[in-house]
Amino acid sequence: MTNLRRTLALVASVTIGTLLLTATPGSASARTADERCLGHGPIAASALARGAAAPGCSLVGRVVTDGHVSVVVPPAGMSVAGEGVGRRGGSRSLQVTNTGTTVRAVSGGTPRAATPDRVARAAGACKDRTFHLEGHRWVKSLKFRINLRKMPSRYSRSTVVKQIRVANGNMRKGRNSCGKPRISTRSSHYLGRTKARPNINPSSSAVGCGKVNRTNVVGFGNLPGGLLGWTCYWWFGNGHMGAADIMIDTSKVLVTHLPATCSNKWDFEGILTHEWGHAYGLGHTGGGHPHLTMQHTARPCSSYARTLGIGDWLGMRKMYGAR
Ligand SMILES: [Zn+2]
Repeated sequence: MTNLRRTLALVASVTIGTLLLTATPGSASARTADERCLGHGPIAASALARGAAAPGCSLVGRVVTDGHVSVVVPPAGMSVAGEGVGRRGGSRSLQVTNTGTTVRAVSGGTPRAATPDRVARAAGACKDRTFHLEGHRWVKSLKFRINLRKMPSRYSRSTVVKQIRVANGNMRKGRNSCGKPRISTRSSHYLGRTKARPNINPSSSAVGCGKVNRTNVVGFGNLPGGLLGWTCYWWFGNGHMGAADIMIDTSKVLVTHLPATCSNKWDFEGILTHEWGHAYGLGHTGGGHPHLTMQHTARPCSSYARTLGIGDWLGMRKMYGAR
């Protein structure tokens, strides 16, 4: 994904009862409601980088933005993040946490794409042990639905549904070619098709995570900036995942079968495997890990991402154990 990779952690502080302003009515230090509540419109993530307490005003439901990425402040005790994978170099992510007393935003960096030299020297899939955990995981079964309303007509519906489900299994079970055993993640359940949209709102230049809900939907949309997939997820203060939604780009460069003569095409099932990685709690590895599924930049004309590298597998094992 081009420029979007950021961890947007927004912690919104919910209402804190009374204000201290009454002690000195008319004091020059008394801030207006607008100032206390960081205005009316979207809040810049930078304003919440150190955590903002907004006494007397709830930031829940407010949009926090960091350029190409936005999220909506979740209720107290919850966090939200948006992250994805793309064709090109840097990417961003944004995470916002609402502890109930403060709201804090964390913007992910914009790692550079690995240089060809670094790719050539990078450790292979069964050697590169790099992983990054976001700090939350599923403790119950992940039940999801699929929305095909915006699926491009060039796809076969049955193939798309099959690959989305298989990709879930690739990540959840830790499918690998390194001889490692199956990951003990709880089983997942596909509940069928739905008319509900993924809770992700793309525009021509940005992608946003909407208000928290409890459904998990995979669907299509027109993602900006070379992004191939985007995942928004919500978790509780105890680190238990509450919901995840995945949007797949409608671009023609995503294909369910790589052509024999391939150029500038990306593997649908591999991209979905990466996005499921976010849904299960894995973050990006940063650049220089071209053989790992969780590198933020996806390699074209290869189905490598369908199987986890050892780093991806180690990350899943740390969260869920292995059989
Ligand atoms: Zn990603």
